[in-house]
Amino acid sequence: MAQTTPNHTQTVSGWAAHDSSGKLTPYTFKRRENGPDDVTIDILYCGICHTDLHYAKNEWGITMYPVVPGHEMTGVISKVGSNVKKFKIGDRVGVGCIAASCLSCEFCQDSQENYCEKLQFTYNGIFWDGSITYGGYSKMFVSDQRYVVHIPESLPMDAAAPLLCAGITVFTPMKDMDLIHSPRKKVGVVGLGGLGHIAVKFGKAFGHHVTVISTSASKEKEAKERLGADEFIVSKDPQQMQRHRRTLDFVLDTVSAEHCIGPILELLKVNGTLSIVGAPDKPIQLPSFPLIFGKRTVKGSIIGGIQETQEMMDLCGKYNITSDIEVVKPDDINHAMERLTKNDVRYRFVIDIAQNNTKL
Ligand code: NAP
Ligand code: ZN
Ligand code: ZN
Repeated sequence: MAQTTPNHTQTVSGWAAHDSSGKLTPYTFKRRENGPDDVTIDILYCGICHTDLHYAKNEWGITMYPVVPGHEMTGVISKVGSNVKKFKIGDRVGVGCIAASCLSCEFCQDSQENYCEKLQFTYNGIFWDGSITYGGYSKMFVSDQRYVVHIPESLPMDAAAPLLCAGITVFTPMKDMDLIHSPRKKVGVVGLGGLGHIAVKFGKAFGHHVTVISTSASKEKEAKERLGADEFIVSKDPQQMQRHRRTLDFVLDTVSAEHCIGPILELLKVNGTLSIVGAPDKPIQLPSFPLIFGKRTVKGSIIGGIQETQEMMDLCGKYNITSDIEVVKPDDINHAMERLTKNDVRYRFVIDIAQNNTKL
């Protein structure tokens, strides 16, 4: 259904999926005028998160078609509203998953907009004016300044884009476990994809022992040599899983598809914590025995607040952490999506939206 909101007068070209085939085609739509609290961003790059695939194919059953995915966008500010103090024209910025929140609940007040009950996402959300939100697979974006972060000068705009969702999603649970400052811990990362490979980089940057738990034996060499993982367990091999029982303090599960978590729980020490950030379409089965025999905790986490996203960005600037990316042209989005479906990406596709060959 096309938007008819009155102040949506800016014409934007982008790419949308129109049905559960998930196929993306060029799509022209309207965005709101830049309001007093808004900034307008000329998008340079946008990462392809697995969530985009879940939405494009309506795997969670909540997609409002046509959907313009994309919540890992970086670009340059081209307009600022009269109330905007933090940003100016020409600033290098990024926008992640959040388009709106209530601004007044305890979570919004505490910079944890990600837990606001009225949270609305960058795409497939309903904005304050009632319009459906369209994401970063498009040339231009209008965002309330509250949901925008600065990209440090030291980070390239293409490889920084995935930090806006994949980065913050793995950073927050690690910070919650005090892993930024705690003495060396044994950390496990399940699923070496877009989220998982950044979690490995954070784990190493914060000085921990990092074990990757993966279904893909072919990823072992680069997990160790390129990403710096200390150990690699092939989760399909029961003997390897058995050898590593009760060895890990904390495990982050980033898997996008249905899988068993009982054997993963067994990898945790007594009192260990499993944090789930992956969002398979089917419910996860939680077996009680590995929980009760190991006094283990299972929790979840969704992205992070905006203040925390800026903190993570600045830390990435300091440690020089970015995503490993494969840059694709807009014409290749569908091919990239197909490869993502087949778990064939090292480790994040990023769309070169502007294609202007300027590396900012
Ligand atoms: P991704 O790049 O596709 O990575 C997912 C990884 O999961 C794959 O690389 C693969 O790693 C593993 N995997 C895939 N199929 C599997 C299966 N059947 N059994 C076991 N492992 C399997 O996806 P992503 O972009 O990192 O996103 C991961 C998930 O997190 C998605 O569900 C996404 O929607 C969700 N997500 C959640 C949040 C949040 O706020 N909580 C934010 C962003 C994304 P190996 O080859 O190493 O096994
Ligand atoms: Zn995402
Ligand atoms: Zn709120």
